[in-house]
Amino acid sequence: MDQQLLRQYLEFYRDLGVTTVFRQVTPQAAAPAPVIEETLSTTAVAPRVISPLPTLQPEGDTLFKIRQDIGDCTRCRLYQGRKQLVFGSGNEQAKLVFVGEGPGADEDEQGLPFVGRAGQLLTQMIDGTARKEGIPIARPDVYICNVVKCRPPENRTPQPDEMETCGQFLYRQLVAISPKAICALGGTAAKALLGAKAGVTSLRGKWHKWRDIPVMVTYHPSYLLRPYNQNAKREAWEDLKKVLHYVYD
Ligand code: URA
Repeated sequence: MDQQLLRQYLEFYRDLGVTTVFRQVTPQAAAPAPVIEETLSTTAVAPRVISPLPTLQPEGDTLFKIRQDIGDCTRCRLYQGRKQLVFGSGNEQAKLVFVGEGPGADEDEQGLPFVGRAGQLLTQMIDGTARKEGIPIARPDVYICNVVKCRPPENRTPQPDEMETCGQFLYRQLVAISPKAICALGGTAAKALLGAKAGVTSLRGKWHKWRDIPVMVTYHPSYLLRPYNQNAKREAWEDLKKVLHYVYD
């Protein structure tokens, strides 16, 4: 690998928030072949193929290609509990992308993001705000995905290594769609996109940037479902209004 390519790799991973790299010493400088993990047991267990990391954003990357590269993913522990991988849904040329945290039980069951109670609220927020503001769009016009594509056990927050592993695909999804703006739903999405340590309360309502794309952080719909968060609900509607006007006016 020449120096320029190495630099590109390092910049790519730095943009994903990866701060530690490991050097693997190989006898020959050959392209990384898939590693086959052999099992020593005598029972007939198929060897597990560990895919090498995908290359940098491939030329002419598409959502289809990214989904193919994810495959039947076993890159992190989350695959163990999933029923279905939840890649994303909506308009592949959307001007606006919503990024959530990770699938819940309903999403895991259906293989689609935001289809449970929080998803119904998100749909109401998008459709209702657009209608009220006279903006002719509805949920199918935007694209929706998550930081991690497999449901964390008991809906726990994804761990940093899970976010890092899956983050490469979120990165590629966002570059492939290249939306006019991104809306980060909740703290996990804000952290994944902005590397932000601050909480949603202090990040929301203002514009931030992911590469060159404006990012609005707002509350996660699950948080808004709690009855004591009515004030936050009003603020989330304000945030969404700002995003919709910025993208569609
Ligand atoms: N919560 C998320 O963050 N994503 C979903 O897809 C559903 C609920």
